[in-house]
Amino acid sequence: MSSSQSTIPVAKPVLGEEEAEAARRVILSGWVTQGPEVAAFEREFAAFVGAAHACAMSNCTTALHLALKAVGVSAGDEVVTVSHSFIATANAVRYCDAVPVFVDIEDDGYNIDASLIERAITPRTKAILCVHQLGMPCDLRAVVEIGKRHQIPVIEDAACATGSEILWDGRWEKIGKAHGDIACFSFHPRKVVTTGDGGMLTTANPEYDRKFRLWRQHGMSVTDAVRHGSKQVIFEDYDELGYNYRMTDLQAAVGREQLRRLPELVAQRRLLAEQYCERLQTIAGLSLPAEPRWARSNWQSFCVRLPDTVDQRAVMQTLLDQGISTRRGVMNIHLEGAYSGESSYRAATSLMRSVSAQQQTIILPLYAQMTVSDMDRVVEALRAAVAEAAVGAVSAQRAKDVAVA
Ligand SMILES: *Cc1c(COP(=O)(O)O)cnc(C)c1O
Repeated sequence: MSSSQSTIPVAKPVLGEEEAEAARRVILSGWVTQGPEVAAFEREFAAFVGAAHACAMSNCTTALHLALKAVGVSAGDEVVTVSHSFIATANAVRYCDAVPVFVDIEDDGYNIDASLIERAITPRTKAILCVHQLGMPCDLRAVVEIGKRHQIPVIEDAACATGSEILWDGRWEKIGKAHGDIACFSFHPRKVVTTGDGGMLTTANPEYDRKFRLWRQHGMSVTDAVRHGSKQVIFEDYDELGYNYRMTDLQAAVGREQLRRLPELVAQRRLLAEQYCERLQTIAGLSLPAEPRWARSNWQSFCVRLPDTVDQRAVMQTLLDQGISTRRGVMNIHLEGAYSGESSYRAATSLMRSVSAQQQTIILPLYAQMTVSDMDRVVEALRAAVAEAAVGAVSAQRAKDVAVA
C-alpha cells in the first residue's frame, strides 16, 4: 500500500455530533437503563417500518430467541431455515433446544430457495425462520404463503434489512411490518444503523409484544420505569422465566438519531450500489448482485461472485495488500465446529449452492461516506486481481496438463 493512500474499510458506521449529543442528554438525565428513550425509539421505529408494535432488545440474537419462544418453539421442535447465514440465526433455534433444519439458497442470490421449504416440513416444524440476507429481501410472499398453508408461523431474520423494502399487494413497504409473524432487527455497527449493540422485534400481534416486554426484563410484572414513577408502593411478581435482554436508554437515544439518518443513508447506499454495478459490469466473469422486481435492498453488504477459476483468498489478499478490506461472503453454519454434533442440525436438502457461494463470493467495501475515488480504487484493484488470478489459474492448469502428459 502506498503511504499516500488511506485504508478502505469494508464498512463504517455514520455517527456524529447528533448521536454524541443524544448520549450526553441521557447521561445527564440520570436515567440510563431501559426507560423513556427506549419507549420513544420503539414508537419511532414502529412508525418507520409500519408495524403495530416494536419492542427494543439488547441485540438481534436475543430478539430471535424471544421470537422463536413466542411462537412456541421448544425442546425437540424443528425450525426451517438456511445454513447460509450468520451463526446467530441457527444458534437462536438451539437456545430453544430445537433443531435448525437447513435448506439451500437460490441459484441466483443468497436467500432461502422458497421452493425447497415444503420438503423440509415435518410434524415437528414449529416455525420458518427466513433471512433477508445482506439486506436483500427474500421471497417473503412465497415463504408467507407456505407458512399459511401449513399453519406454521414465519419469523423474519431482518438483522441486516433495516430500511429494505418489498413490493406487497402493489405497494412498496418496509421490511418489518411484519409481513411474517415477527421480524427481528440488529443495530450492530456492521449493519446500516447502529446503537453499538441493539435489536428490535416488530409484530402485528399484541400478545407476542406483551410476551417480549415481559421476557426481556426477567419476567417482571412491572417495569422499573413504572415502579420508579409510581406514587403508590408497588410489589412486582415473577410468574415466568425471563431474561435480561434490555436495551439501555443510552443506546436508544443514539438509535433515534440513527433512525433520522436512515432514509438518507439508504438512498446513498443505493446510489453507491448502482455506481458499483455500472463499473463492475466490465469485469469478465464477475456476477453482480441484482434486486428481484419486488425487492429494494438497503445494500447492507455488496456481495459479488468471482469467476469459478479465481481463488477467493488470493483476490482478497491482493486487495488487502493495497489497503482495501473485503470479507468472504456469508458463512455456512453447518460447516462450523459448533454444528459438528450429531443432533445440532438437520439438512433437508443439498447445501451445494450455500457452500459454493461461501467459496466464490466476496463483500466489497460500501459505506455512506464512500467517495467516487474510493470506489474507483476498489474496482480497478479488483479488476487487476481477477485478471491476475485468472492467468494464475490457467498456468496452473497448463502445468497440471504437462505433468499428466
Ligand atoms: C448480524 C446478524 C445477526 C445477529 O445480530 P446481533 O445484533 O449481532 O445479535 C443475526 N442474523 C443475521 C443474518 C445477521 O447478519
